[in-house]
Amino acid sequence: MSNEQQLSLFEDSSIDSNDQKELIPKDAKIPIPTGTYANMTELAQHCNQCHRCGLGKTRTHAVVGRGDLKAPIMVVGEAPGQTEDETGLPFVGKAGQLLEKILASVKLDTQKDVYICNINKCRPPDNRVPTTEEMDACKPYLLEQIRLVDPKIILFVGATAVKGLTGDKRAISKIRGEWMEWDGRLCMPIFHPSYLLRNQSREVGKPKWLTWQDIQAVRAKFDEIHKNQ
Ligand code: URA
Repeated sequence: MSNEQQLSLFEDSSIDSNDQKELIPKDAKIPIPTGTYANMTELAQHCNQCHRCGLGKTRTHAVVGRGDLKAPIMVVGEAPGQTEDETGLPFVGKAGQLLEKILASVKLDTQKDVYICNINKCRPPDNRVPTTEEMDACKPYLLEQIRLVDPKIILFVGATAVKGLTGDKRAISKIRGEWMEWDGRLCMPIFHPSYLLRNQSREVGKPKWLTWQDIQAVRAKFDEIHKNQ
């Protein structure tokens, strides 16, 4: 080993990693290693100055999350819509109100039992589905959110949420209601409330009825986990 190499062993590596950390919101090629953020406030600061993808250009607010920061259940949706972009809070528009009702129907409290967030933190123009590049650029923030909240159960709201986190591209109608394991956590895909708003029938076997079955299964699993703790 050369003298120079030997000396470099003793350089302060935190200087380097601090520089790298500052680059995170600027460049999607900069990794976000596990443990980058000490808390959600730090993470939110980066999201609000982020341009890892083009969505940063048109956002009003980055929409990071809401609810209990130590919730046993995490809800992961697709991306903010207009009301979310305006308020900086996820699922507060029409779809969000329906999501609240679905959770309340099994007495899940969004202040206490649940943390709500999305695959993408910024609103795609005209509410289009985020591209794979946009999802990949934002995904490390979500992985950090999952590490910080450490939920036992993840509720995937819609097919984009499943695809964005697990890469599974199957249609939501094929996978909803089936528990899947990801990162050692129990995950349940359900229909997106926007889809339920367009499919209002309550008949047995229709999307609303199926979602009622799914959310009851989530409640039962939540109770089982609590009992065994
Ligand atoms: N739809 C989503 O997927 N997320 C939101 O925050 C709002 C609507």
